[in-house]
Amino acid sequence: MTGFADFHRRSLEDREGFWKEQSQLIGWHKPPVQICDYSNPPFTRWFVGGQTNLCHNAVDRHLLTRPDQPALIFVSTETGVERTYTFHELHREVQRAAAALLALGVKRGDRVLIYMPMIAEAAFAMLACARIGAIHSVVFGGFASVSLASRIEDATPKAIVSADAGSRGGKVMPYKPLLDEAIRLSKHKPESVLLVDRGLAPMERVAGRDHDWAESVARQDGVQVPCVWLESTDISYTIYTSGTTGLPKGVQRDVGGYTVALAASMKHIFLGEPGETFFSTSDIGWVVGHSYIVYGPLIAGMATIMYEGVPIRPDAGIWWSLVEKYKVSGMFSAPTAVRVLKKHDPAFLAKYDLSSLKALFLAGEPLDEPTARWISDGLGVPIIDNYWQTESGWPILTIANGVEKKPSKFGSPGVPMYGYDVKIVHENTGEELTGANEKGVVVIEGPTPPGFMQTVWGDDARFVRTYWQTVPGKLVYSTFDWGIRDADGYYYILGRTDDVINVAGHRLGTREIEESISSHSGVAEVAVVGVADQLKGQVAMAFVVPRDSAAMVNTASRLKLEGEIMKVVDEQLGAVARPSRVHLVHALPKTRSGKLLRRAIQAVAEGRDAGDLTTIEDPSALQQIKDLMAP
Ligand code: AMP
Repeated sequence: MTGFADFHRRSLEDREGFWKEQSQLIGWHKPPVQICDYSNPPFTRWFVGGQTNLCHNAVDRHLLTRPDQPALIFVSTETGVERTYTFHELHREVQRAAAALLALGVKRGDRVLIYMPMIAEAAFAMLACARIGAIHSVVFGGFASVSLASRIEDATPKAIVSADAGSRGGKVMPYKPLLDEAIRLSKHKPESVLLVDRGLAPMERVAGRDHDWAESVARQDGVQVPCVWLESTDISYTIYTSGTTGLPKGVQRDVGGYTVALAASMKHIFLGEPGETFFSTSDIGWVVGHSYIVYGPLIAGMATIMYEGVPIRPDAGIWWSLVEKYKVSGMFSAPTAVRVLKKHDPAFLAKYDLSSLKALFLAGEPLDEPTARWISDGLGVPIIDNYWQTESGWPILTIANGVEKKPSKFGSPGVPMYGYDVKIVHENTGEELTGANEKGVVVIEGPTPPGFMQTVWGDDARFVRTYWQTVPGKLVYSTFDWGIRDADGYYYILGRTDDVINVAGHRLGTREIEESISSHSGVAEVAVVGVADQLKGQVAMAFVVPRDSAAMVNTASRLKLEGEIMKVVDEQLGAVARPSRVHLVHALPKTRSGKLLRRAIQAVAEGRDAGDLTTIEDPSALQQIKDLMAP
């Protein structure tokens, strides 16, 4: 076995040779002519001239070798439905869905927006798009109409696939009214909407536009829809993520590079073998859901569990019972979920036979030591922290135990993965910080590895400006995370450098929440900051200056306005973005030039020292926040 250091070095020094080898993990219709094209930095093109298809690699490729092996295991503890689809059955479902999309006029290159709960049809829809070369854009079901509308406008989808409702913790969450409202708000209107009717909530149909999924796919039974051979550099999908502006960015990914990156990561990082079962507890609305619920495990010939429900219902043993039942070998979750489980009886961990499990992978937010220790002791398997972003598509920092077994260090996601040239630079000078434990911004030197975002959908200039031009004097990709590297080369992530917050592993832009709150007529000014939270890592907290100061005078009017503001966010963005608290204040702390002192607000809200305040205009504004936070 090669050591990881050599493996990593080779991935950078002999980039072509290394990735050519990795590219052989997948099936190509036409092999690539050029491995890596970095002639137009920072844009990287992988496996140029090659032709392949994600759906072919995830489904069709396994039909000869493992047609009757489980591929998709759908479990809903919300509706009680549990069903396994073999590769053969998955192939049939995906073909029917692809044929239904074609019948609606969806063509190669068209966008299909998917706004769905965690049901098998969502995976069929994604794979069907990949099959015919349509670009899917999955929007997290927890987002409400305004968030959805801005994504519809940006993606301009030909069709939308949705459902009547999702369900969470036994509560039905209707999707269709939010979708209808979003389409009403959006300047772009999709030609058709394909709707899965789960019988959970009533749905009004728009004649001529709305189609029933079951009827549409039944009509296509037995129709053969071959995979369209796409250029490696064609677009497979876009996924929206939050940044510092209110406008979400469409992270755009290719076909060939992504397929190779996932195949390689399943082998080297996630220790996945064909025939085994992978269980990722994320949601298809997030990048982890794309990479490690749908595509990664299937590409590796594994069965993948798609789970609709919460981790503690019917009880906190539900996930472990699935590990036992389906002999899960790799499990992927987020620290927040483990913190939720930690509040329950640890006996749930001992109740089931977890001997099939090789490791638990956790990502999306910092993994605190008590949480890591608790789950590590409880499971008795390695806990592998992994750091990445929607933009990267697969881990940037972790431990690749499939290449070389290496110890993890609590608090550190690990070391840079193969293909990633990670550095730490000074935020003002751009100078590389090579010493141990020197704090700076974590950046990546181009070319970025396969699977990494190609660009921002429809806006190359924004891609370059946002990600590649923030470090002075250098064309490097900024992760917008602070980090350090210790003497052994292990990295530690110390939080974001921008206004992005991370609530229960979900990335939210504070600006988006502020814009939503500002739309309430009673709001004059607002600042939203992320505040440390024991369970969720961070929560959003809003400080609002009301238009009418009378709102602050009596408790009833204050509570009324605070409640209305929460409701606005719920309705526009979704409960996922709802601030944990709204505080009414007489003014927001600003500099004399009028710039909001966000960091100071955040520090005070977390009970920390506000730092340098020499430029503050009105110290009483900060004092009021301090008083509000006093226990
Ligand atoms: P997202 O694009 O939603 O995956 O969010 C990416 C951000 O989440 C990163 O830029 C980090 O700030 C944070 N993050 C993800 N994984 C980790 C991790 N393992 N440790 C610390 N922070 C993480």
